[in-house]
Formats: sequence, structure tokens, C-alpha cells
Amino acid sequence: MKEEIAIFWFRRDLRLDDNAGLYRALKSGLKVLPIFIFDKNILDKLENKKDRRVDFIHQAVSSIKTQLNALESDILVKYGNPMEIWNSIFKEYNVKKVYCNHDYEQYALIRDGKVNKLCQAQNATFHTFKDQCIFEKDEVLSATGTPYTVFTPYSRKWKEKLNDFYKKSYPTEKYFNNFLKIVKMDAMNLTDIGFEKTEIEFQKPTLSKQILLNYKEKRDFPAIVGTSRLSIHLRFGTISTRKCVQYALMFGSETWLNELIWRDFYMNILANFPQINAGKAFKKAYDKIPWRNNEAEFKAWCEGKTGYWLVDAGMRELNNTGFMHNRVRMVVASFLCKHLLIDWRWGEAYFAQKLNDFDFSANNGGWQWASSSGCDAAPYFRIFNPESQTLKFDKNLEYIKKWVPEYLSPTYTKPIVDHKMARERALKVYKEALNEA
Ligand code: FAD
Repeated sequence: MKEEIAIFWFRRDLRLDDNAGLYRALKSGLKVLPIFIFDKNILDKLENKKDRRVDFIHQAVSSIKTQLNALESDILVKYGNPMEIWNSIFKEYNVKKVYCNHDYEQYALIRDGKVNKLCQAQNATFHTFKDQCIFEKDEVLSATGTPYTVFTPYSRKWKEKLNDFYKKSYPTEKYFNNFLKIVKMDAMNLTDIGFEKTEIEFQKPTLSKQILLNYKEKRDFPAIVGTSRLSIHLRFGTISTRKCVQYALMFGSETWLNELIWRDFYMNILANFPQINAGKAFKKAYDKIPWRNNEAEFKAWCEGKTGYWLVDAGMRELNNTGFMHNRVRMVVASFLCKHLLIDWRWGEAYFAQKLNDFDFSANNGGWQWASSSGCDAAPYFRIFNPESQTLKFDKNLEYIKKWVPEYLSPTYTKPIVDHKMARERALKVYKEALNEA
């Protein structure tokens, strides 16, 4: 008779420390076999086989493997359709309990529902836990029990509710003896899943005290590293959200804490208003806007050739590194929706392909904020002026010189649209569409 075991299934929580589901698995009374599945359904949709995110995940999983090998254990890494993989795992091992952490995206919810059913059919139990965020969809509600749709009151309630229980770490390391002892397995290479190496290098996430102390003053300047750059780690769970909150409080960085609360806020908007999965504007009336959707202008925007320095610098940073500074994300997104009157969903999809930290809820939230159709108290007539944003946030043009070195050259693209005209056009189109709605 094969030994009865528990499985911990890693997904967007790629770390051994302070991991809620893993902690429960290690305390389940059974030895734990960790697994990771490179999901063919997701990977097949990625056209570029040099995808930094896949490379990052691969490196993060390899790092977990090394740590487990030092504990005489290992991680079972598979590639394929999750249901087929799970069927094969049930054949190979005597699995009694399956543990993982909640994943709130639509595809994941359906997948987990199916795996749960399979577990039942196999006489095993399926256990899933909150780990990605501090509060889930029904934990921070208004006095009338409804979800908040505006950030400020949400964040106030979030802070009121936060106590040691919600932010304490799960001491998984105390139970590392409970990993299943196994002979080291062969590693899976990137090429085995049809992908190639990129320049991205997975390094253990670090949170600099200096960044947090100066965050409020420095966070808006794209030429300097004034923000944590932890978004990819938070996305794939190579750092725990609870640890980030602990640091924000330790160094008294309320502004940075607010950013983490934005992250929870958008995750909860997705969980409470799943209609955003269907590509709908959060404020229905905004689906009446007659977007111009000029393809040549969209191409110029994607390539960083709009003739607006800051917009072009941002898009080139994105195309070259997979990252874009938050201030610049707001400027390029506003430019696409308002100056060019291109449907925010086009920009959302482009970011989804390119961003290393791409997360459906934060990206959708950011884009709907930029187009004014989302959860935002600010009115639609907030239209960023790329030139005044440059003067405020890149006065010495350091960021622009880095990404658009030809900015003064006669060969540099002429602005594809005039700011004043575009602003007035956007105001008119929005006003007419919203008055009619
Ligand atoms: P910091 O400034 O150090 O913030 C700390 C962490 O807080 C971030 O790592 C991130 O996890 C979270 N955070 C910060 N700002 C936001 C925000 N506005 N919404 C949600 N979480 C936030 N962020 C993503 O993680 N994934 C996305 O796909 C994404 N798409 C965006 C699209 C648009 C149009 C806009 C305007 C913003 C988007 N953001 C997204 C939010 C933000 O730009 C990035 O989180 C931030 O730039 C990452 O840099 P950092 O790690 O240095 O952040």
C-alpha cells in the first residue's frame, strides 16, 4: 500500500516562507509533496516564446526545488492540462488531501472547481486559503454590508480592521520536516515547455528601508528607483503580502501601505463584480463612448512613436524591460483613451501581453481609472497633459533621454495629435456619450 500523502499545489504563491496554504498542508498530519504545473492552456496563449514571466516563474520554481532538495525533498513539476495532470497524480500517488491558496481570476476559479470535484471523486479533500491579499471580498464592507466601490472609504475601513491576526506570518519553517522525503527528481527546462531564456533574473525580493522611508517624496519620478519594484514578486507570490504590510507599518510608510491597499481593493472589485471579466466598463454609461480606434495611431502608441516624449519613453521602457513606472503608466494610459480616443480595452490587452507584473485586477483597475469608466471619484475631464507631467516629474529629462535619445533630433516623430485639439475632442465625445446614456 502506498503511503498516504498531502499535496501542496503552488500557483501564484511561489515561496516556502509565510505561505498560508503550505503552512496548513505541513500541519495536516500527512507528509507533503509540493507540486507545480506549467499550465499548457495558459502557455499556449502566449505568442512570444521569450516571455519574461514564464522565465521568472521557471526560475522561482527552480529556487524552490533547490531549497527542498536541501531538505531531502523535492517539487514535482509537470507541464500540461491541469486536469490531465491531476488525474495522473492520483494514479501515481495515494493523495488524501490537496492544499493550495485562493486564486480569484475567472479561469482559476473554474479550474479549481474542477480539481475540487476530482478530489471528491478520488476520496481526497481539497483545501484552499487566503494568501494573496490581506482581506477578501466579504471582509471589508460598508456599514450596509455592500462592497466598497471607491478607494478612500475602503482604505479607511481596511486600516480599521487590520490587526495582528491578519498581518502575522505563517511560520512554515517550523514544519519543514513534514515535507515528503524523496529522491531528487529531474528538473524541467524552459525548452521542455516550449519557451526560451530571457534577460530576466530572479533574485530574492528585498525591501529597502530607504525606499520605504523616502517613498512619499520619490515615488513619482520615473528616472529614479523610488518605488519598491516588488510588483512582479507580489504577482507571483515570491514575497508575502503580509510581510510587505509588516514592513510598511514598521517604517511608518503610510503612502506605501496605501499602494498595497489599492492592490487588495482591485482584487476585491474583481471578486465582487465579476462582470469586469467580460470586458464591461465598471460604470455602464462609459460603454457608450464612440471610440475612434485608429489602428495606425494605436501602432504608434505601442511602439513609442507618438511624438510625445514621456508617452514614448514609457512605451519603450515597457517594450524593452516589461516594466513601466506607475506615473508613466497613468500618462500613457490617459493618452491612449483621451488623446487618441482608443478603447481602453486595447491598451489593457497590450499591457497584459507586455507587463512582467501583469495582474488582471490591477491592470483592469488601472485602465478603467485612466479612461474614467472605473471605480474612481474623479470626473472624466481629468486629462493628463504629457508636457506638464514631464515638467513636474522628469524636469531634467533624464528618463526621456534614457528611452528616447533622439528626442531633439529632426528625425524624431512629430506629435501624432495636437494636445489642445485632442483634449477638447475628448471632452466633447465623453460629454455627448454620457449625456445620451
Ligand atoms: P510600489 O509603488 O512600490 O507599490 C508597491 C506595490 O503595491 C506594487 O508592487 C503593487 O503590487 C501594488 N500597487 C501599487 N500601485 C498599485 C495600483 N495602482 N493598483 C494595484 N496595485 C498597486 N500593477 C500590477 O501589479 N499589475 C498590473 O498589471 C498593473 N497594471 C497597471 C495598469 C495601469 C494602466 C496603471 C495606471 C497601473 C497599473 N498597475 C499594475 C499599478 C502600478 O503601476 C504598479 O503596481 C507599480 O508601478 C509597480 O511598481 P512597484 O512594485 O515599484 O510599486
